[in-house]
Amino acid sequence: MRLMSAQELVLKKRTDILDALCSSGSAEHLERVLDVLLAQGELTWEDYQNVQVPGRALYTNARQLLDLVYAKGVDTCGIFFAALKQVLPEVQGAGFSSLSSCSNVEEKEETHGTSAQTLLTQRPSLIYKLQDCIDGALKALVQSGHFTSADFDPVQLPIYTPTQQEAGSSLNEEKLTPPKEVLKYQKKLSSSVCAQSCFLSTYGGTSHMSLDDIYTEGQLELAHECVDVQGPLGLEDIVGTVGTVNEEADTVLVCGEAGSGKSTLLQRLHLLWARGAALQYYLLLFPFSCRRLNSEQRELSVQELLFQHCCWPDREQEEIFQFILDHPHLILFTFDGLDELKQSFSDEHRLCCPTQRAPVHILLFNLIQGSLLKGVRKVVTSRPEAVGPVLKKHLCKEVLLKGFSPNGIDCFVRKHHSDPTVAVKVLESLQANTALLGLCHSPVLCWIVSQCHKELLGCGEGSPQTITDVYLMILQHFFQRQSPPKSTVRLGWQQGHLETILHLGQLAFEGISTTCYIFSGADLEKCDVTEKDICMGFLTQSKDMSSSHSKCYEFLHVTMQCFFAALYIVLSSHTDRYAIPKLFELQELRDTGVSSMCFRSCLPSTDQEEQIVDSEHAVAETPNLQITATFVSGLLSQRHQSLWLHCCSTAMVEKKARQVARCLSKGMQKHFKSIPQPVQGEKKSMHAMPGFVWLIKCIYEMQESRIAKEAMSKLQVDHLKLTYCNIGPVECTALAYVLQHLRNAVGIQLDNNSVGDVGVEQLLPCMHICKSLYLRNNNITDEGIHKLIAKVIQCDNFQKIALFNNKLTDACTQHFSHLLKTRQDFLSLRLGNNNITEEGAKQLAEGLKSNHSLKHLGLWGNKIGDVGAEALASALENSDTLLWLSLVGNGVGSEGAYALANIIRNSTSLEELWLTENCITRAGVECLIEALEHNTHMKSVWLRNNDLSLEEVKEMAQRESRLTF
Ligand code: ADP
Repeated sequence: MRLMSAQELVLKKRTDILDALCSSGSAEHLERVLDVLLAQGELTWEDYQNVQVPGRALYTNARQLLDLVYAKGVDTCGIFFAALKQVLPEVQGAGFSSLSSCSNVEEKEETHGTSAQTLLTQRPSLIYKLQDCIDGALKALVQSGHFTSADFDPVQLPIYTPTQQEAGSSLNEEKLTPPKEVLKYQKKLSSSVCAQSCFLSTYGGTSHMSLDDIYTEGQLELAHECVDVQGPLGLEDIVGTVGTVNEEADTVLVCGEAGSGKSTLLQRLHLLWARGAALQYYLLLFPFSCRRLNSEQRELSVQELLFQHCCWPDREQEEIFQFILDHPHLILFTFDGLDELKQSFSDEHRLCCPTQRAPVHILLFNLIQGSLLKGVRKVVTSRPEAVGPVLKKHLCKEVLLKGFSPNGIDCFVRKHHSDPTVAVKVLESLQANTALLGLCHSPVLCWIVSQCHKELLGCGEGSPQTITDVYLMILQHFFQRQSPPKSTVRLGWQQGHLETILHLGQLAFEGISTTCYIFSGADLEKCDVTEKDICMGFLTQSKDMSSSHSKCYEFLHVTMQCFFAALYIVLSSHTDRYAIPKLFELQELRDTGVSSMCFRSCLPSTDQEEQIVDSEHAVAETPNLQITATFVSGLLSQRHQSLWLHCCSTAMVEKKARQVARCLSKGMQKHFKSIPQPVQGEKKSMHAMPGFVWLIKCIYEMQESRIAKEAMSKLQVDHLKLTYCNIGPVECTALAYVLQHLRNAVGIQLDNNSVGDVGVEQLLPCMHICKSLYLRNNNITDEGIHKLIAKVIQCDNFQKIALFNNKLTDACTQHFSHLLKTRQDFLSLRLGNNNITEEGAKQLAEGLKSNHSLKHLGLWGNKIGDVGAEALASALENSDTLLWLSLVGNGVGSEGAYALANIIRNSTSLEELWLTENCITRAGVECLIEALEHNTHMKSVWLRNNDLSLEEVKEMAQRESRLTF
């Protein structure tokens, strides 16, 4: 086989190279490669500036470099690979490391020429050597008279290339050097941000874990489709301009479920900035936590907000604030957890004056809108429920954080365990329990599972299946870590720690019902939380940038608070008897605006009197109450009831369990009743209403098939539509658990979710009741298809599948071919917008030859070309079932058209042939016209956007009315 040249490899391995350079989210790797290429003389300064454009997405800069290197030819490409190897020696096996041997990028030790040249040729090693002693070097230069102080300051700033200066900041226009006080403040701010962000708080109680050691990339996607963006987003892309939908706005929203890693992601951005490793375009970064802003009772001005909540300037406050006002583009704010703010976002109360005082939520809303400090970049995180249309209006873009990818899980587990053999064992046990693997897509659950590896590896068959199982595991883990099993053996761990559970439970419960996540000493006292309870490790001391408050605590994670609230509802005899029904009816109550009131009535009556009804009350409640209800279902499931035997009365637990079962059944009935009667002749279809998936998850937590069966017994529909419902692997597990009890086979439509291969595997148990499966746009690869087909081939009801816009390649077509051969009642196969080429088409043709049932075949937007079209045509030319065939956008030319004309000539069934957006010329169309002359049942052939002139189109359309141009 011919060896590929370095230039060809740059093209072929483009995706791998981009990932290697950018997937960390930091620009560091790209910059170091650029340094080497500059030093080698492979890039000019002009090239360098064309690549490093400020504010542009990291991936785009890297792509620009690849284009440039490619254009410069094979030698530059060789040197590029060598530079890549030097910067990223760990990137092996990507297939490009071997090439680097052909050129030598070791810096030439000896340089004859000017010192300026030496500076250039030695650039990479100089940068490396200087990074820790830049201050000293500068001082020496000033002392020796080589530098003036005017030279000094710009170096101390983040370094800007000339294009960067032109592009955004006013630094250049004004020839401005930030005043010394601002630089001093920057130093103080960044060292405080650095200190706040270098450890992860979930590890606080146990071992210190530095963010560097554990941080794992989550999956980031743009909420809106964007043609320019391919591949995953990197961390810096969040702040950059990539994917902007509203140029006027300055606020980026990062949206994700509880535990998907939003706070950790911001923490990573903060740390990278503070260390000078990313976002260096921004001179000042102010991090805020909405959770902490809740406790600010005073009215503040923006200036007070910044300085009191983030970092206090020791001197020259006014000058520093003026600098911020004058240079908004150099400032970045982050607001974590907008959903946790007590007030929902509104843009009614406008405020423009930066010195005017107002309640902090008003300040925050005006900052987000841009009425205050227009031009400052803002990154806000939130759970999806809190994001309404009013907020969306003010966003420049929305980014979705979807937890870990399967690779991410692997990577996280390996980072968490310093002993690789333990990591391998944990990963093996996850592979053996796909329900648990599905849960681990959520970083918070991945953390718990890794934390509890001993319990996990020791539990054999009883490995956790549900979210409640996982949280019970961490409960036991924390208790047993504190008091060695000896002392609790007699009592059982839950009994031995019942008091702690109830104290923390009450604290959590009251917090959830009043949107409170940070607890003061007085709050703890009220619930009898003792020092010993605190030591168990479920609470962590609240971090506060302003550090003016006394000691405050929060739960390790909001889901942990929900779990304790659920424990309280289950175990306490003080909750009122309607607590459970009210918890499950929260959807409806919220709509009438009285949820917080009603839920508060679950509290003991003395507390009730103290509660003040706040009409602006909170968006955070519903999702947290939903999570709590899910845990209540799990804790009361029959298989866990024995845990509570000696903790409270069995009769009470059984009664509460019956209440939950009743609520779930009633909730389902209500959904079913809302299904409209079908129009005559149409199928009865149900579109999932909000809350449906949540109820399904609660039923799954109960793990009682009787309840699932009962819930499904009254559902009579033909089609279940769950599009855009945020369905990932966890939801798939629950759906399959419940839907398998349906009486009639249904169509299941899951388009536009995040099912993925793991989710597909989770769906298998309900495939026997599935007639048609719609999985458009769900990140599915050949691997998922392999497992799916192996199952559905045995399911008599299964007749249709739609997989538009996934990640399928030729490697999956053999499975479809097998399906087509085996199942002579299969009706519809739609594989549009994947990566199927002529090879895949040939494989499909093999199956089609011996199939006598298929009616619809869709391959829109693949790359089958003429050869693929010929293969399909020869397999289908005698078909007497195929009604509809689409080869839109497949690079089919006239050769393909000649072959397809044979289907028109011979098939007795085909009615529609779609050939839009191909490259068929007049000769090809002539052939189709000729074939149509002998065909009366064919209805239309679509030929828009082919290689035809206007005259040709006009003339041929007149000759054959069934052609559509
Ligand atoms: P959210 O803010 O979306 O509720 P967090 O960022 O608080 O989620 O994540 C919860 C926990 O999950 C963290 O404390 C950490 O243990 C783990 N985690 C989240 N994201 C990551 C990540 N990117 N890398 C490593 N661990 C993570």
